Amino acid sequence: MQIIKTIDELRSIVKGWKKEGLSVGLVPTMGYLHDGHRSLIVRAASENDRVVVSDFVNPTQFGVNEDLDSYPRDIDRDAAVCEAAGADLIFHPELEEMYFKDSCTFVDMDKLTKGLCGKTRPTHFRGVCTVVSKLFLIVAPDRAYFGQKDAQQLAVIRRMVRDLNFDIEIVGCPIVREEDGLAMSSRNTYLNKEERKAALILHESLMLGKEMMEQGERDAAKIQSAIVHKIETEPLARIDYVELVEAENLENVAVMEGRILTAIAVYIGKTRLIDNTIYQFSQPG
Ligand code: AMP
Repeated sequence: MQIIKTIDELRSIVKGWKKEGLSVGLVPTMGYLHDGHRSLIVRAASENDRVVVSDFVNPTQFGVNEDLDSYPRDIDRDAAVCEAAGADLIFHPELEEMYFKDSCTFVDMDKLTKGLCGKTRPTHFRGVCTVVSKLFLIVAPDRAYFGQKDAQQLAVIRRMVRDLNFDIEIVGCPIVREEDGLAMSSRNTYLNKEERKAALILHESLMLGKEMMEQGERDAAKIQSAIVHKIETEPLARIDYVELVEAENLENVAVMEGRILTAIAVYIGKTRLIDNTIYQFSQPG
């Protein structure tokens, strides 16, 4: 497995693969890889002849007071994870390779990016859409793999690919969790012991919402309020949002039917964590 730092070199390797008729899967990441990332790489390796993992902490998706500088990084460890999971190449560019100093072109989106995480992170999805578009144009993969963990991101990327006619299949992959239910995240490393325990409230509150849906509750406000109350029982938790939305267009629902995404963002101490579940109602309400 190779670690490639320049766009030119990456393009020439991928061109060689394409000439041989090989299919290419891309797994975009910000590094500090865990089993959630690993599941995406393993899936990509099972569905493509070659797999590229991008490992780049993308500054344009961080807000001014966010954790860009402290975001964990460890390329040697990442390389070992990628190799074991079946990746062929890591694309690990420097900032200057990805962005010209005077870069002024961005990919942005209305609607899907305004709610949920977009409320507290108003420039986040512009950064995500821009870097993912660049990676799509640089790598030109047949398929790209994203985690359901970032449900809004996945919906946004699907819409961007549709709207801009990228000829790339987007594959959504299930959330990988720790044994006790906490969704894996590079940001979990920020949690101290007490916070790590408190962070379980995210999964627990989502499970409560899911149970209510399984028991036939269709009133979104009731479920939202039950989840809020559950999270409020944890003193270290502060809610950013708890929302029930239609899973594809991310629009609010009052009476639930079809695929419903319950998405939450909660600060545990200073660390902002997100989690979600999707529930499929089999019949109209
Ligand atoms: P990140 O490095 O956090 O930008 O994540 C890179 C990709 O890995 C994104 O598509 C995430 O949705 C996905 N991912 C992160 N955590 C998980 C997880 N626990 N389970 C599945 N996918 C994940």
